[in-house]
Amino acid sequence: MLPITANAFDRMWIECEEDYLATVRRVGRSGWYILGPEVAEFEKRLATYCESAAAVGCASGLDAIEIALRVANVAPGDKVLTSPLSAFASTLAIIRTGARPIFCDVDSHGLLDPEAAKVEFERHPDICAILPVHLYGHLADMEVLSSLAASHGVPLIEDAAQAIGATRHGIRVGQFACASCISFYPTKNLGVLGDGGALLLSSASLVEACQAIRNYGQSSRYVHDVQGLNSRLDELHAATLTSVFLPRLEYWLSRRREIAASYLDGLDHPLVTLLPGPDPAGAAWHLFPVMVPPERRVQFMDHLQRKGVQSGLHYPFLMSDQKAFVSLFGEHESDRLMVARRFAESEVSLPIHPYLTDAEVEHVINSVNSWNE
Ligand SMILES: *Cc1c(COP(=O)(O)O)cnc(C)c1O
Repeated sequence: MLPITANAFDRMWIECEEDYLATVRRVGRSGWYILGPEVAEFEKRLATYCESAAAVGCASGLDAIEIALRVANVAPGDKVLTSPLSAFASTLAIIRTGARPIFCDVDSHGLLDPEAAKVEFERHPDICAILPVHLYGHLADMEVLSSLAASHGVPLIEDAAQAIGATRHGIRVGQFACASCISFYPTKNLGVLGDGGALLLSSASLVEACQAIRNYGQSSRYVHDVQGLNSRLDELHAATLTSVFLPRLEYWLSRRREIAASYLDGLDHPLVTLLPGPDPAGAAWHLFPVMVPPERRVQFMDHLQRKGVQSGLHYPFLMSDQKAFVSLFGEHESDRLMVARRFAESEVSLPIHPYLTDAEVEHVINSVNSWNE
């Protein structure tokens, strides 16, 4: 049974190998490897699955965010409100558009706090876009954030890299945002054997602009109206998403939700605080975060490791503290990011991939509960 790891690609491969190899043969034989029928077909299926007006594939989640910001007319020098508690890519995408991140504190779920966002708009009335991160697979409060965005006349773009398939009290990814950014990095809930990403769009009118940017800014053959990227989703990855991975997503999500429910029910330790999120039944449960006292965190993780349970940190450093960004903007007033900082110091992620067996889930629960602090 041991060790229990954060991901189990070997188990996924055993289940998917036949379908995957058949798909490789199909694409190989087609003789078309970049921006062909497989990408178009997958985009159609992804948009249908997510109930979006359209989807556009690209090379990564990072690129999806950059493309979304650019088609939302975020320009160099503009301010973009975002969460400091995220993967590096959220903030890096803002920087790559030439814009400047304005970091806003998170709420008790680790999600962009709408009340703190209102305060940031008072301090920076010239904020040009809002980029919430649906961390851990929980949706930020998109209803309140979208009315805030509307009242300031700025676009709302979601970093949904961890949240495909998530809902929050019936509200789903993409419902309130002009663009939602998805990643197909292997560890994500819907991954490929490599890199990939996509934008979900609320309006088909943005499709051509996204398609141009992902392909060097080319609007028609040899005609370039903007300086784009090389950010194409490969035909092979698109085909495997259509034929191998997307058809399994609902089952994977339901297994993640089942494991989360078992953890929420079974974990019971005075020093371990559970984070059920705003809607545990609707969340995509990309990660299962808990909080422990900061001074005990190393000891807790060592204990889990001795029990054969791998744990992780999401994320130990705030974006506002990263050298790459501090060198651009200087130190951020840290008292504004108190809750985010508490997450950075206290959070520990337990394994929650869909191939965990019931016995393994039980073992994780027992290992946490038997922590002898
Ligand atoms: C993974 C991730 C990204 C970046 O996706 P890539 O495909 O690795 O570029 C962005 N934001 C969040 C929250 C992520 O988890």
